[in-house]
Amino acid sequence: MSVPELTCEELVEVVTDYLEGGMPAERRLLFEEHLAFCEGCQTYLEQMRETIRLTGTLMEDDLEPSARDALLGVLRDWKRR
Ligand SMILES: [Zn+2]
Repeated sequence: MSVPELTCEELVEVVTDYLEGGMPAERRLLFEEHLAFCEGCQTYLEQMRETIRLTGTLMEDDLEPSARDALLGVLRDWKRR
């Protein structure tokens, strides 16, 4: 049995749970494991933190779908390098 890994898409899906502390410990570990080697997601997480710092909150509904798609595009490009 291999350890299930988080993909960039999955990480983006759960990033709010992670930042709000609503993520089970096991899942957090996977999240942080992915972050350790994924520069694109590190940048994304920093941007999310900055957004929360500026707005004081983070509602997933506030995320523009286009911005989300753009981000996933960036992540994919980064992976191809
Ligand atoms: Zn990633």
